[in-house]
Amino acid sequence: MAQFAAPFSDDFLLHYITTEDPAEAEKLFAAARKIRSRHYGEDVYFRGLIEFTNHCKNDCRYCGIRKSNGKVERYRLSPEEILHCCRIGDLLGYRTFVLQGGEDPWFTDERMAGILCAIRRNYPDHAITLSIGERSRESYEALFRAGADRYLLRHETANNGHYRKLHPPAMSLAERKQCLFTLREIGYQVGAGFMVGAPFQTPECLLEDLRFLEELRPHMVGIGPFIPQGDTPFAKYPGGSLQLTLRMVALTRLLLPKTLIPATTALGTISPDGRERGLMAGANVVMPNLSPRAVRKLYALYDNKICTGDEAAECRLCMEGRIRNSGFVPNMARGDSAMEAGAAPARI
Ligand code: SAH
Repeated sequence: MAQFAAPFSDDFLLHYITTEDPAEAEKLFAAARKIRSRHYGEDVYFRGLIEFTNHCKNDCRYCGIRKSNGKVERYRLSPEEILHCCRIGDLLGYRTFVLQGGEDPWFTDERMAGILCAIRRNYPDHAITLSIGERSRESYEALFRAGADRYLLRHETANNGHYRKLHPPAMSLAERKQCLFTLREIGYQVGAGFMVGAPFQTPECLLEDLRFLEELRPHMVGIGPFIPQGDTPFAKYPGGSLQLTLRMVALTRLLLPKTLIPATTALGTISPDGRERGLMAGANVVMPNLSPRAVRKLYALYDNKICTGDEAAECRLCMEGRIRNSGFVPNMARGDSAMEAGAAPARI
């Protein structure tokens, strides 16, 4: 397996981005599994996902909860409801809570800090992850001080022209990247990532995504297929393919052996065994849903999202079964990234 050794040339990466040969893909997945095993064994880490608001001031063209989508029924969980989700999550064994939402100005720094302090007080040893988009450095600092320790902010695409096609003019790739470097500088464990098969994406865009990840060296990388949402400008575009998404998971594992890679809900949405196949391609995290059942259908980033009818306990048990059945070992610990140890931030 000598060819699967760093450094990886552009030609090597482009070959595996574009290959249609199942045998080639399987070789790549096997190499990714081997690397994942070396650093994490067969363990798969659990994160409890709380989708706490679908209000958003942004207007990303691919996203179902974009501001211009007048068809979404908007909701926002109260601090008490968020804490209730954490309580249930803790009882189910979760040691990481992920608070994700649209960019909702109602959640000012003060309100977010209040929620974070309350979670921290009740669960001093748990990891608290935020995924609430772009904010100022001061805001990121305040939320870090209040107890957040991880932050997920997908860069979405590392190609400038492509970024502009996916986002409104007010947003820029430079700003998005700056947020990631700022978060890292403050001390967060950061997660970047991208969608596979988004409209106008080329193999070269995906190559740039991989090169950007090498530069940032994030603790986590979220990779999921683009899935059209009927009330967005991209409603009529085809979704990303399972195979290409899996190859991107595997290539990311080769480039960043110690990063944490979730087998995403979007992967599970485009194929019944998509998340298991994500694990077989080098992923090692799952994020079952802890949101109250009543709001799950409303957090509709894309169509046909799975697990919107289940209770938190069902998601937890279902994932555990799926993981065991595919030969992996559920791990409910905090699951900090092995990147921690010696990962030098690129620009800091
Ligand atoms: N507001 C937060 C959270 C965004 S939702 C932020 O800006 O980071 C989380 C992720 O869902 C996004 O980063 C995006 O990559 C993904 N997503 C949004 N719409 C999608 C779609 N139509 N198909 C697949 N993934 C989508």
